[in-house]
Amino acid sequence: MLKLAQQILEQYFGFSSFRSGQKQIIEHVLQRKNALGIMPTGGGKSLCYQIPGLVLDGTAIIISPLISLMKDQVDSLTSLGISATYINSSISHEAQQHRLRSIAKGSYSFVYVAPERFDSDSFIEVLRTSKLSLIAFDEAHCISQWGHDFRPSYRSVVQQLKRIGSLPSVIALTATATEDVTADIQRLLSIEQSNVVNTGFARDNLHFRIVKGKEKRAFINDYIKSRPNESGIIYASTRRDVDRIHQWLTKEGYLVGKYHAGLPEDDRKEAQNAFIQDETTIMVATNAFGMGIDKSNVRYVIHHSLPMNIESYYQEAGRAGRDGEPSDCILLFSAKDIQLQKFLIEQSLMDEEKKVIEYQKLQQMVNYCHTDRCLQQYMLTYFHDPFDRPACEICSNCLHQGELLDITKEAQMILSCVKRMGERFGTGLVAKVLKGSKNQKVLDGHFHKLTTYGLLSKWTEKEITQMIQFLTAEGYLAVDDGKFPLLRLTSESLPILKGEQQVSMLIEATAAATYADQYDE
Ligand code: ADP
Repeated sequence: MLKLAQQILEQYFGFSSFRSGQKQIIEHVLQRKNALGIMPTGGGKSLCYQIPGLVLDGTAIIISPLISLMKDQVDSLTSLGISATYINSSISHEAQQHRLRSIAKGSYSFVYVAPERFDSDSFIEVLRTSKLSLIAFDEAHCISQWGHDFRPSYRSVVQQLKRIGSLPSVIALTATATEDVTADIQRLLSIEQSNVVNTGFARDNLHFRIVKGKEKRAFINDYIKSRPNESGIIYASTRRDVDRIHQWLTKEGYLVGKYHAGLPEDDRKEAQNAFIQDETTIMVATNAFGMGIDKSNVRYVIHHSLPMNIESYYQEAGRAGRDGEPSDCILLFSAKDIQLQKFLIEQSLMDEEKKVIEYQKLQQMVNYCHTDRCLQQYMLTYFHDPFDRPACEICSNCLHQGELLDITKEAQMILSCVKRMGERFGTGLVAKVLKGSKNQKVLDGHFHKLTTYGLLSKWTEKEITQMIQFLTAEGYLAVDDGKFPLLRLTSESLPILKGEQQVSMLIEATAAATYADQYDE
């Protein structure tokens, strides 16, 4: 049967080989096992149920929360000569009844439905009496209350499935599953550990890059000018920013569309279609754009400002390079964007507990911008990727031209200064004290009397700030949750203070020269 699967891959879909994980998942399903596939966005999850659906007799039922996507998926299967349909609230009652009758007659190989469909007795009855090849749960993390996108309707499908009687294989697919969520999916859908295929979250073709200290528009202009025919998305945090950037790029003569929740539905659809069909090359958008967009040739995603957390960032950036070709994910960092995100959290309707969690997540996003580790590795660690992957060698940190310097002494001075200031102040003031500044706040707090005052006077205040941010990114310092980012020590600080652990940091060539000067004296 695997041979037939390979033939279908080539003949229907035109691909010569399976991607990582696809073959194993398909094998489990063809052996009539329940299976769970955890693969990154663009990893090729659809083929994991589409190929067994074609190999096995009967109708495949695909449960998906993305109503807007069902039609596209059905259209693309139909264009390959495969019989498929969907049933959701967007079609009339008559059309739904008609499609149900056709399913009962076995007219379709694939039927896409929203989870709510399982609340309908007539739908369950059709499933009970039809020959089914498999049942697939797309976006399966929605089934778990530990997932970031829990949908109760998804969970109730599990109960309803019991009414169907003899079930075919159940296959669950997701791009985001923590250990808790994985365990939950396995338990709810009776999936044995040996039938879980986890390819991890790494996207080898994505070049992550952080750009600091550059004028944003100048950077964007230079960047897109050098890629005239390539598709790209520019994400901004607010609708107003989207409008402004869109207006500016249009004036510059680019083929550019815009998308945000404040625009009429028709305009949004039109902009989305023009982008997907390559009539426009650039899409400027808020995070409202992208969920379920299957455009495989997006060559770059630029974040004009800081996203709210690493989950959103990885998801948005991950819309680049779904076809596996090299693509750029660029984040334009500016410290003042942190304030905007804080403002958005503060203004939101979340309860206080949730706000604290959002502040923590935002801090981890900021840390990503200040680490000097491999950026891909940094995010995979954040997602508890099960594999120990080598550095990607293609992110801006891996490619960074600088010098790795031992800053253990400086780190000790910074940590002691934070301690002596009572762990009640933020990066700015701590940097000023270490610099030996005569700023009024320093004098008012009597910090000029501390033994750590002026200890790093040979560094610029900016460099001291960068070191503090680096130590925070590496977990040697923490920023207290809440509106005011107060620095405090962590359990990782002690080994450094005691001289048991060294700290090294990649430093720009110019700063490295200053550093060398002071120690040559
Ligand atoms: P996911 O649902 O995991 O985000 P998709 O199923 O939409 O990913 O697949 C992403 C892209 O990869 C699609 O354009 C698809 O045609 C392509 N693709 C999937 N499997 C293969 C393969 N084995 N070889 C080449 N391209 C593939």
